Amino acid sequence: MLSRVAVLAILISFLVIIPAPSSTKDARSVELKDYYTPDHYPSFQEINHTLHQIAKDHPDIARVFSIGHTWGWDPKTGRYDWPKPLWTIKISDNPTVNESNEARVYIHWHHAREWIDPAFMMYLINALVKGYYTNDTIHWIVNHYEIYITPLSNADGYIVDGNGNPSNLSGDWGPGGWRKNARDLNGNGTLDIDNLWDATGEGVDPERNWDWYWSNGNDNPSDPDYHGPAPFSEPEVRAERDFIENYSIDAQCVLHSFSAAILIPWFYTSQNPPHGAFFRDFARHMALRTKIDGDASSHFSYGRPDEVIGYSAPGGSSDWVYGKLNKIGIAVEMEPTYTLYGDGFHPSTSKIRTYITDFYEAMIYFIEISNSKLKSKSEANNQPNAYIVWGYAHDDSGNPLMGVTVKIRNTANGDEIYTTTDEHGFYMLNLGTLQNKYSNTTTFEISVGDATQTFTPNNDLGSERRDFTVSSVPEFSETGLGLSILVATVAIFIAVLRE
Ligand SMILES: [Zn+2]
Repeated sequence: MLSRVAVLAILISFLVIIPAPSSTKDARSVELKDYYTPDHYPSFQEINHTLHQIAKDHPDIARVFSIGHTWGWDPKTGRYDWPKPLWTIKISDNPTVNESNEARVYIHWHHAREWIDPAFMMYLINALVKGYYTNDTIHWIVNHYEIYITPLSNADGYIVDGNGNPSNLSGDWGPGGWRKNARDLNGNGTLDIDNLWDATGEGVDPERNWDWYWSNGNDNPSDPDYHGPAPFSEPEVRAERDFIENYSIDAQCVLHSFSAAILIPWFYTSQNPPHGAFFRDFARHMALRTKIDGDASSHFSYGRPDEVIGYSAPGGSSDWVYGKLNKIGIAVEMEPTYTLYGDGFHPSTSKIRTYITDFYEAMIYFIEISNSKLKSKSEANNQPNAYIVWGYAHDDSGNPLMGVTVKIRNTANGDEIYTTTDEHGFYMLNLGTLQNKYSNTTTFEISVGDATQTFTPNNDLGSERRDFTVSSVPEFSETGLGLSILVATVAIFIAVLRE
């Protein structure tokens, strides 16, 4: 039994270790550098090295792990003796912990010849890591979401298609290129690629191998979109499936190219899904954040594949994520557009930066809305649309108010959501996390302390900024909450002492 002295000692130590409000590492104490510059297509080797370097340099916000392996085709030996790990990076605060209150986003890619996508993912990873120290929005996203990225989930295919090196695209390579993985379909122990097109009876299309209307897919092994001998027959696809399920991914975005389009379910048919209005609404907001060839007045198109790129795609990953798991699943066809098509799968390296930055803001918006919780399909008609409200809270002197509660309330039905400002006085809330549907004429109240504003969520971009200047809000502070917990703890200890 503890002596009273020991209990008092514990109490005193508790007082001493009352946590100061958590603060982030000062940008000046971190060496900020760019891990990827979008002037080249990164190779398999560069991507692996860079991911591990980032995790080493930033263990507080990054972790790297493998979710599985490829078949392992090796161009040097022609045999399957090089199973490549599917390296995946997690970017979030507390990267070794799966925080149940944070939305989990998964970004990946499937088609070997679609080179702009791994480049985009490396740019995004770099932007998230660097932005954690330099950009309040990114800082918030890294603290409040878990972002998982597998830049080369078809690593074998990427090697087949030239490993990001344009000088490998001479002769028979050219436009067209390799799309599938490197499965040895004819079982002769090597990958038969005469002309480095994939119409040679080898390989499986990873984006047709998922178990959602898989049997509607193409069963001719010589076609670039061959769906494989069975659903989930491919190790790369099984690895992604297991990762998505085991990590309870909330929102998935698979990258493709080209066409400049944001694609939403259903992928397998020309029908709208139960949550079709929700998908279409946020896809429109994403599209409005895109540019075409650097021109901010033109945007990506959006809709179902049959509407936008002219064909349906059965057995795809996003349909499976949505249809099977009832989570958000979309695909993005990056640039170029068809009208800008030259070699659309391998754009000139001089276009990489433009094509990446044309889509970057839309990707950040997708991450922001990923904490929308899809209602069951039978309740989909009550699904609230995503809409981001963000801003800053300051005191009268302009100092950021940290740890104050920001509350949004639907005045029509009383639905409420909350968050707490960070050390920059910054906050972000998503109306997609409300309980019930609302319209773009619904009046919402947003308040910090006793300062209240009203708004209607009718901005075409699907977000708006609301700043607050507040004289005092002591009752909402985290420190106040901490003190309350301390007082309650002391009261319990005193009660124990009196036993
Ligand atoms: Zn593709």
